This record gives sequence, structure tokens and C-alpha cells, in this order.
Amino acid sequence: MIIVMQPGATDAEQQGVINRLEQEGFKVHLSRGIERTIIGAIGDKTRLKCETVAALPGVEKVVPILQPYKLASRDFHPEDTQVEVGNHVVGGPEVQIIAGPCAVESRAQLLEAAIAVREAGATMLRGGAYKPRSSPYSFQGLAARGLEFLAEARERTGLPVVTEVMDQNLVAEVADVADVLQIGSRNMQNFALLQAAGQTGKPILLKRGLSATIEEWLLAAEYILNEGNNQVILCERGIRTFETYTRNTLDLSAVPAVKHLSHLPVIVDPSHGTGRRFMVAPMARAALAAGADGLMVEVHPNPQEALSDGSQSLNPEEFATLVKEIRPIIAAGGRPGEEWAS
Ligand code: PEP
Ligand code: MN
Repeated sequence: MIIVMQPGATDAEQQGVINRLEQEGFKVHLSRGIERTIIGAIGDKTRLKCETVAALPGVEKVVPILQPYKLASRDFHPEDTQVEVGNHVVGGPEVQIIAGPCAVESRAQLLEAAIAVREAGATMLRGGAYKPRSSPYSFQGLAARGLEFLAEARERTGLPVVTEVMDQNLVAEVADVADVLQIGSRNMQNFALLQAAGQTGKPILLKRGLSATIEEWLLAAEYILNEGNNQVILCERGIRTFETYTRNTLDLSAVPAVKHLSHLPVIVDPSHGTGRRFMVAPMARAALAAGADGLMVEVHPNPQEALSDGSQSLNPEEFATLVKEIRPIIAAGGRPGEEWAS
């Protein structure tokens, strides 16, 4: 439920409401606005009814949260959530550019990619050590050795590392190296994995499922938030539609939709979203114009030789051009804040 306090409610009245909610086992989030304070509360309404809370001193009205996701909803938490990764903030004024190869293939390949993307202006490094491949015969990733190379690349470049965790049993191992744990599309509804990843307290990059609705995606985020971890970054990466020209259909309308429905930051992956190299930069520009908080782009030193996703990977020069092209769009302020609420 959302509790709207009266404009002149005192601190004691506010605290009284919070105490009562907490006594009944509710999770509480306080938003102090300029004019009034709003308290978001999640719990068992059979223990404390909306009418009972509405009658407490200082309360103006109580509104139920109608969405099935609660902690992820903007009603519960009106301000944008900011996710801190090293010195960077996802969901703040700075647009984050996460770039690197689809898979870590060798020490040399990763270091070359990491240095190139940093020089071009990337703010974080991506690279899969454990790869979710559609075929069991495809390259599956370097696993633990890949994580070691990622740690070395971070040391060399200073870029925080975003890498995928595919299995609940690997969460501790991957979290040991990763600055951000990526949950891939194919695992968006692996609820045990979402819970285990959430429990690490690390920032989680949650990719939209291959055929997930926005509501299902936000409910997946709810599993992480429900572990007490609000450091969740959503990533739109395209969905399965009847169109076959592109690998997926990049749903850029999800960006303003998610911003409207949720306080969580949302970034866009135009690489998996299109599957075609020439479409990556235009869709990256469109994503930022639509208000995305950042991008995730696959970059390989030599895409022709990539062991996975070469056809959608940019080479370092192409990536440098993309970064130059997005600067004016960022400067033009494609990331409005207030309008999401309406
Ligand atoms: C990836 O980022 O390399 C990846 C496998 O992405 P997705 O889960 O979106 O397919
Ligand atoms: Mn990939």
C-alpha cells in the first residue's frame, strides 16, 4: 500500500505510522517529497488493513499498489533508483557504456578488447566467462579461467566487470570477480538463481527474457528486490517476434514503459537486439534518445574470428565511432526525468 501523509504531518506522526507498519512485519520505504511524504509498505494486508492505516494520525490517504510487482513499482518508490558500480552510477545523470566481447576467448583477446573500449570511452567492461549457448556443441566459455582474465583486465584498465552467472551453484565464484552479475535472457525466470544472485548484495544486470512481457520482467526483478537488494539494472535486449530479418526485435518502447512503471534504471543492448553489426549504432542512438540509462555493446578485436556473436560485434574503430555519435544525443538531453510519472 502507498500511504500519503498530510502536508503538515509531524515527524512523530510519520514515525508512528512506520512503527505500526514494521510491527506488523511490513517492509517500508520512505519518500520525502517537497510538499508531502509518501510511505510505501509491502506486507500482509490481513494483518493490517488499508482502512486501519488510513485512520492513523497524520495520514491523508492510503492507496493500494495495484501492480503485481510491488518493490519494483514506481508507486512504492517514486524516485529513480541509482545503482553504484565502482565510481559510476547507473540511473544517474551519466550514461553508462558497457562494452566488450560476447565471450572471453583468451587473455590476449580480452585485454585487447578491454583497452580498446576504455580508450573509446566505455565505462564498464563486459565479457562472458560462462556462456549460455543455444547449442551444446558451440563454444561454452572459458569458465574459471575467463574470470581470471576479467579480473586482470579490470586491473589493467580500471573498468568494472559485468559478467554472466548462469547457475545458482556458481554465484559465489562469479560474484568473487564480477562488479555486476549479469542474469541472461534465458535465465530471467530462473527464480532460484535470481534469489541467490540477489543475496550477494552485488548489482545485478537483469536481461529481459526472450519472450517476456514487461510485467514478467519486473516480477523477475521483484525476486531480487525481495532479497533486500535494490541494486538492479534492467536490460532490454530484444524479444522474439515473427520478424526474422533481425535476430530479435529490439523493443525500445520498453524504455519509457519501464521508466513509467518502475524506479529501476534501464539500459539497452542493441547487439543482441538486432544481431546485425550495421544496425547496432543506429539502435544505440535511438535507445539513448528514448531515455535509456546506458548501453551494452559487443566489441571484439576481430569480429570475423569471434567464437560467438561475431556478426553483431563491432570492431574497436566502429565502437569508437558509435561513442562519438552518441555524444550529441546525450548532450541534447534525451533522458528526461519528470515525465515518467505521468
Ligand atoms: C550476452 O550478453 O552475451 C547474452 C548471452 O545475452 P542474452 O542473455 O541477452 O542473450
Ligand atoms: Mn553475445
